[in-house]
Amino acid sequence: MLDIRDGLRKYRDRVPEDVGAPGSWSVQGGDAGETSDPASKEVLDEAAGQQLSGGCFCGQASYTFSATDVLRTAYCHCTQCQKLTGCPFIHTIHLRSSAVSFALPSSAATAPTLSSTICASEIELNSLPHVLRAYNTPLKPHKTRLRCTTCGTCVASMNSLTGTTSVWGVHLARSPSGRICEWDKVKPTAHIFYGTQLVDIKDVLGKWSGYENNSDRLDV
Ligand SMILES: [Zn+2]
Ligand SMILES: [Zn+2]
Repeated sequence: MLDIRDGLRKYRDRVPEDVGAPGSWSVQGGDAGETSDPASKEVLDEAAGQQLSGGCFCGQASYTFSATDVLRTAYCHCTQCQKLTGCPFIHTIHLRSSAVSFALPSSAATAPTLSSTICASEIELNSLPHVLRAYNTPLKPHKTRLRCTTCGTCVASMNSLTGTTSVWGVHLARSPSGRICEWDKVKPTAHIFYGTQLVDIKDVLGKWSGYENNSDRLDV
């Protein structure tokens, strides 16, 4: 079993401290105010250094990762994300597949437990954990979408070419006030694939035709 925190921090993109603040339209749904709320800050302080967790709507499919293993975090406006999620854009978080650990409950009829886990990098499509089912788009067969077998929520996308796995910010654990835990460590740093945006975003984050710092900047 791989240690999900092993040696991947050097790949992590630097996350500027002053980005992610809400613009004229608060795309972060109030999460950006987390650090100014004393009660929420206390929750964040307690969670500092701990694993982040996320999962599907019903809770059967869940995963953990460390905020220090985040490679990229951005709002993605690509057409595949749009069609697969039914949303104009989605907060995507990229990690090494070895850094994402899925819980393996003993059976679909019991509550999920973290006592048994499997890294995304170890998941084999011909012997999926019973809590997950897979879908590969014909356009990008190297990308496998993992869905909960019960509620159908898509909880992750594994890329066999890059060895990375994407999860989505909306699925992460929340503080008692409903805000995403460790927000400062996972908040988006850019809008990517913005050329196909369905909503004009007026915030401080850069808008890129592809990935951040690896494509054309569209807002300058
Ligand atoms: Zn579910
Ligand atoms: Zn996308």
